[in-house]
Amino acid sequence: MCGIVAYIGHREAYPIILKGLKRLEYRGYDSAGVALVNNGLNVYKKKGRVAELEESVVGKDLHSNIGIGHTRWATHGEPSDRNAHPHVSANGKLAMIHNGIIENYAQLKKDLQNKGYQFKSDTDTEVLLNFIEDIQRNNQCTLEEALRIALKRVTGAYVIVLIDAEHPDTLIAARKGSPLVIGVGKGEHFLASDASPIIEYTKEVVYVNDYELAILRGDELILKNLGNEKLTPYIQKLDLELAAIEKGGYDHFMLKEIFEQPDTIFDCLRGRLDATAGTITMSGVQNYLEQLVNAPRIIIIACGTSWHAGLVAEYVIEELCRIPVEVEYASEFRYRNPIVRKGDVIIAISQSGETADTIVAIEKAKEQGAIIFGILNVVGSSIARISHAGAYTHAGPEIGVASTKAFTAQLVVLTMVALKIAHAKKSISEELYSTLLKELHEVPGKAATILKDTDAIKKIAEKYKDAANALYLGRGYNFPIALEGALKLKEISYIHAEGYPAAEMKHGPIALVDASLSVYFVATKDTYYEKVVSNIQEIKARKGKVIAVISEGDETIGPMADDVMIIPEAHEIVAPMLSVIPLQLLSYYTGVARGLDVDKPRNLAKSVTVE
Ligand code: GLU
Repeated sequence: MCGIVAYIGHREAYPIILKGLKRLEYRGYDSAGVALVNNGLNVYKKKGRVAELEESVVGKDLHSNIGIGHTRWATHGEPSDRNAHPHVSANGKLAMIHNGIIENYAQLKKDLQNKGYQFKSDTDTEVLLNFIEDIQRNNQCTLEEALRIALKRVTGAYVIVLIDAEHPDTLIAARKGSPLVIGVGKGEHFLASDASPIIEYTKEVVYVNDYELAILRGDELILKNLGNEKLTPYIQKLDLELAAIEKGGYDHFMLKEIFEQPDTIFDCLRGRLDATAGTITMSGVQNYLEQLVNAPRIIIIACGTSWHAGLVAEYVIEELCRIPVEVEYASEFRYRNPIVRKGDVIIAISQSGETADTIVAIEKAKEQGAIIFGILNVVGSSIARISHAGAYTHAGPEIGVASTKAFTAQLVVLTMVALKIAHAKKSISEELYSTLLKELHEVPGKAATILKDTDAIKKIAEKYKDAANALYLGRGYNFPIALEGALKLKEISYIHAEGYPAAEMKHGPIALVDASLSVYFVATKDTYYEKVVSNIQEIKARKGKVIAVISEGDETIGPMADDVMIIPEAHEIVAPMLSVIPLQLLSYYTGVARGLDVDKPRNLAKSVTVE
């Protein structure tokens, strides 16, 4: 959460920072600010979007070759001008931006207040900043030394970047638990929460690790640990193109990303699945095949949409591999006292690879002897570095806050992992194995078919856009898709929606059914089909509106339902990769019809780096 951009070098810092903040706005967008140095600090900050900050600084002194910028996702203190970052220290010399949470801020604040410090904001960030200033004053030391001392005494997660008005040739940054990338240019350095603000200037990057400090000057990059030992920066080449992070003619990133799915699914399969030869090549799985095949148990840890992908995988892995699977919310798993035994396999699923709860949950399980397998979209992310093995989803940057293409790619990867284990374990027949390989191979083409004409889905969205409530129902492999459909609608249109197993509906939610309730069924042709048809009848009998995702050629549900969204027929194990697409589109069109900002839904942020 929150976007951080900083620059030091020979160019004007402000335009680079502003553009970078716009690119990072998906990470947080309740307020934004910049700090520049030109004969002292110039700090501008504003509640609202980056565009509002941009408007508010017209005519101001923006000249500087060094600067820090931030787009906030509030944790401590409401979104407001005064709580926006950068914050300035009590002596007026230091400015700081921060991503994360300082957990012991209350005690530190009390101590500082007892010493006479007064605070201008409600944030934990300003407390840390003044704590650093206080250490510097008491010890008569450099900012770098003060920072090192301070960081040993704070708990929580952070990326912080500091500038000192008296030393406008240096940026100082530190990281623990939130992402930070340094872009290495010629006589200039960039800092950002991810690579998107950097790629148009340089492709050489250094990923900063936890408990590391970076001291940046135009022509110098020093990396140290908190023990003041110098580290050799590992410079990597970015494999990312500018076009991948731009809208490319679509109205919104979310729509672009939904439409990218035939390609992203193809990219995810490419080089791995060979349906003709009957092989799946995944080195992460291959290197740990013995442990995976013999795993007494698989625990899937995830949050949000990734958790839904995990639920689909539970059905798939248990069916194909006959290994018991549990799916856990990372935030719950990390705080209870879970039983993890040596040899258990933990699959961590996260688009960003930076999800704070998932990181802590897997670190804990790793200590207890589990094998950590990461399924992630962002290459080189924190979870990738913690995992023993894993597989990337290769969906490309996902910028729309509501996850779409990352989800389908997660399903593809999870299914390939399951098939690879099942094949090695001989827990499925050769026939089913080759059928599923062929089915997977056909998914990109079938996804393209769904996206060829989306008018019918748009009309349905417009028809039901004013509903106050929606219920999403499905069974078996499609039950998690019902949950995901409901989550998407909630996120994007703010319509209250609940997902339920279709049969479980009789144990409570059926009380909600009347003529005003929209009930979405995920009712493709599978093992549960007849049962779902009965559930549809139960809703119709109570006058609920039935909107169903059905398989092509289905002649039973069409006449019963008020509206249908048709997808190509597919094996039930791969069907979720397709049945979710109309539901993504439905949420998108509903949000647009309600006049909402679908790429930046209220209160949400893309990569949840706080717990
Ligand atoms: N905890 C800080 C605040 O509330 C930083 C939040 C963020 O990561 O945007 O201001």
